[in-house]
Amino acid sequence: MRIKVVILDLDMTLWNHPDVSSMVPPFKRVGNMKIVDSEGNLLVLNDCVPDLLRILKKNGYFLAIASWNYPENALKMLELLDIKEFFDLIVIEPHPMKEKMIKNILEYFGVSQEEAVFIDDNPRIVERVRRNLPRLKTVLVGEDISDVCEIKDILGI
Ligand SMILES: [Mg+2]
Repeated sequence: MRIKVVILDLDMTLWNHPDVSSMVPPFKRVGNMKIVDSEGNLLVLNDCVPDLLRILKKNGYFLAIASWNYPENALKMLELLDIKEFFDLIVIEPHPMKEKMIKNILEYFGVSQEEAVFIDDNPRIVERVRRNLPRLKTVLVGEDISDVCEIKDILGI
């Protein structure tokens, strides 16, 4: 079945920071893809991501986020990096049970497991999602692909 929804993790998948919730506002954009917090901690967006999101949208995919974070910092980063508007649905919750977030995302778009792909760098999370949603396509960053932008190859675009 054709993939319709691409579900993306944030920390260590779209950007290089392991825990955006730990960053301390206020945040400042210091480059095209870089945000610094009030303590000098840096978050860098993977530089292929804006093009990736543009290409996915152009090819008709719905884009969603499933992120284990408190929403406030993560949403602010998406705004500051100018990528928030690419996403059709943003789910950011402070627990690691992404299978629950993904079930809600599938329901929101009215699609089956076979019609979505989930991309995340955390092996434990991906394993649990695979157990709970066995027909969902899952991609582990760092193992199945080395960089999130390689999902273009997986999707054949
Ligand atoms: Mg992650």
